[in-house]
Amino acid sequence: MRVLVVGGAGYIGSHVVKELLSHGVEVRVYDNLSTGQTINLFENAEFIEGDILDIPTLEKAMQGVDGVVHLAAKKAVGESMMHPDMYALNNLNGTVNVLNAMVKNNVKYFVFSSTAAVYGMPDRSILDETTPLDPINFYGFSKKMIEEVLSWYDRLKDIKFVALRYFNAVGYDAEGDVKGMEKNPQNLLPIVMETIFSVRPQMTVFGSDYPTKDGTCVRDYIHVSDLASAHYLALEYLKKENQSQILNLGTGTGHSVKEMIDETERVTGKKVNYKMGDRRPGDPAALMAVSLKANELLGWKPVHSSLENIIQTTYQLYQKELGKN
Ligand code: UDP
Repeated sequence: MRVLVVGGAGYIGSHVVKELLSHGVEVRVYDNLSTGQTINLFENAEFIEGDILDIPTLEKAMQGVDGVVHLAAKKAVGESMMHPDMYALNNLNGTVNVLNAMVKNNVKYFVFSSTAAVYGMPDRSILDETTPLDPINFYGFSKKMIEEVLSWYDRLKDIKFVALRYFNAVGYDAEGDVKGMEKNPQNLLPIVMETIFSVRPQMTVFGSDYPTKDGTCVRDYIHVSDLASAHYLALEYLKKENQSQILNLGTGTGHSVKEMIDETERVTGKKVNYKMGDRRPGDPAALMAVSLKANELLGWKPVHSSLENIIQTTYQLYQKELGKN
């Protein structure tokens, strides 16, 4: 099988490439290197530098592949509210370009990186795929729209897809094969790491009065290598069953912000300089995934997502990159 990984030089994409290669899949990476990094490329995967808005280059890259994994997207929630035009163009138009290039080249299988942000502020903490979708930011809205486009391309163009709704992606490849730290990280664990290494003088915990075990927000943190394995299994599923699916990917277990900080201090032996601050608008108290469907249909199970392993693998990379300063 030959697979085009769109966004394959990015944080999740590079882990997906490693996973596909380990199963003998022929991989071609397509990435514009806007946030992806050449350091994340694998020697035995072909690389084409290109943008999903550049239709001729995209169509060329699509030639001779059996399936596509599409992870190229803008993903900063705050930015999406200030620049919806940018998110509409890259996430919506860009994905439609990918789909049209597939149609033109008769490529049938599509694995899509969706997100728990499609659920917004749900009235419950434990979410399965039937939870109503009500995104509260333009990023989540763009992913929800694409899921809808996908079901129409399934009906009208016979493209079979698996949309994977990631919960909180964390961690790094344990063998150190993915070397690129994310630039300008916006998420909790990279911020905790940058605080340890004094890239930031101090971090803020957003809210300590939530109705949770210690008052701080609870999220479902899933190791990126576990996310990666789901992409391979999704491609196998599509080949075998030829049926579209939307699947949550999480562990089903929640950890609070305070737990993340305490466990980081324990695992690394370093102090995290933090202060308690106000709630961040749009943060639900707790979110956890039911991923039974991914388990039943794909045989997927997280095996890398213990809190200790998540922190250890992240620390390993940050130590290597920032520890020398
Ligand atoms: N968070 C925090 N301080 C930060 C960044 C994040 O307290 O500097 C909290 C945030 O409020 C949320 C959790 O960490 O409860 C995870 O946030 P992140 O932005 O990583 O992911 P989200 O769940 O918002 O997609």
